[in-house]
Amino acid sequence: MFKSYGQQLLDRAFEALEAQGIIARPNFLCCNSCACDAMTTEKERWTGATAVIGAVHFNEQSTESANEGGALFLGHGSFAGDEQTNLQIGLAVCSALREAGLKVSWNHDTTKRIVVEPPPGITWDLRYPRNTDYDD
Ligand SMILES: [Zn+2]
Repeated sequence: MFKSYGQQLLDRAFEALEAQGIIARPNFLCCNSCACDAMTTEKERWTGATAVIGAVHFNEQSTESANEGGALFLGHGSFAGDEQTNLQIGLAVCSALREAGLKVSWNHDTTKRIVVEPPPGITWDLRYPRNTDYDD
C-alpha cells in the first residue's frame, strides 16, 4: 500500500511514542471530543509492554485539512490528568515528531493542540484507513 513520505515520518514518531506508553492514534474518529472520549477504551485495550501514561491523536477532520495543504493538529494528554504529566506528554510528543524530521509548533499550553507540518517541499498526502471500532 502506498505511504507518503510525510505519513512514514508520522508513523515513525507514533511508533516511538507507543514504545514510551503513549497511545498514538492517527486519523482517529470524527472530532477531537470523540477521540478524547474513546481514549479510556483504548487504554483498556492496550497490550503494549510499557504502562500507558498518555495519548496523542488526530481526527479525520484534521487529516482532511492537512491533505488540503494545512498543518496537522494533534490532541494530547495524560491519564493522570495533572498539569505536570500533561506537559510531560506534550513535550514527549514534540520531541518524537522532531526526531522523525517533522516541523512542530507548540507553546507548552497543555490545553492547545500541537501543530505539525511536513518537511519543506513535502505535502502530507495521508491515506490512513478509517477506524471503525466506534461505529454504532
Ligand atoms: Zn466526533
